[in-house]
Amino acid sequence: MKLNSLHILLTYQCNYECDHCFVWGSPKQSGIFTLSQLEDVFQQAMATPQIREFYFEGGETFIYYPILVQAVKRANELGFATGIVTNGYWATSIEDARAWIRPLIKAGLNRLEISCDPFHGSPAELAEIHPGVIAAKRLGLRACTIAIDPPIGYRDPAAAKPGTSLTGGGVMFRGRAADKLTDGLPRQPWESFTACPYEDLGNPSRIHLDPFGYLHLCQGVVMGNLWERPLSQILADYNAKTHPVVGALIAGGPAQLIHQFGVDHKPDYVDACHLCYRAREALRPEFPHILAPDQMYGVA
Ligand code: SF4
Repeated sequence: MKLNSLHILLTYQCNYECDHCFVWGSPKQSGIFTLSQLEDVFQQAMATPQIREFYFEGGETFIYYPILVQAVKRANELGFATGIVTNGYWATSIEDARAWIRPLIKAGLNRLEISCDPFHGSPAELAEIHPGVIAAKRLGLRACTIAIDPPIGYRDPAAAKPGTSLTGGGVMFRGRAADKLTDGLPRQPWESFTACPYEDLGNPSRIHLDPFGYLHLCQGVVMGNLWERPLSQILADYNAKTHPVVGALIAGGPAQLIHQFGVDHKPDYVDACHLCYRAREALRPEFPHILAPDQMYGVA
């Protein structure tokens, strides 16, 4: 397996509640890693030599800032490369951003990625002059902004009028995006979604770990639970072809979930993730430990 990176969902909580969010981040969400759980994960990763890197994501990582700093410090002490993804709400000026970033650099942080697009309440132009990125670079830290192009018509009904050519932008329509962003967008027949376009489910290079111990191949598609079985064992036992949901996705994409499990469906969907997410929602009672947790399906 080419897996070399664990992406820690430090919390499902976020100070924002963005329409496109895969993980239903929100101030109302639950789930936060404790320091002792993080130490458990680091030790398990030490026993799995292929893991070389930890990324810390959310939710919003900086709302649990002391835990984030300690997590970076500990991962660095143990020899892992580290990165953080954040919405950058804390970077209110270059000077203030430096105050937030300095302790992370001291802790050994290698890379900072700041979401900066209209979904996160930022004008696209800010990407060029984001105070968090400027401050980080001036302090010698690798940093960049990451952005998703919104669907045409997003929060602009005039642009979505009949005759306008709508597209889905850069959004993948899973999680909250499947609920909030699909209205009015062009659709394709469900049978046409015969492959997963984004994830190498059979041989992933990175997987996500949430505060409930779930290891996610894609958000809400679980490989195993780290609080129930050691990471090394989960990885050794993983067989994509015998995993009931992944096996179907590899065999024939989201459409195969419909064929194989007889899921009720609509005639068409915006993209593969839209069909996949809706089919998985319907299959959760059948696979409660694989299509989990509730937080990832917006029902917690
Ligand atoms: S098709 Fe399904 S498994 Fe693939 S990226 Fe989209 S939601 Fe994830």
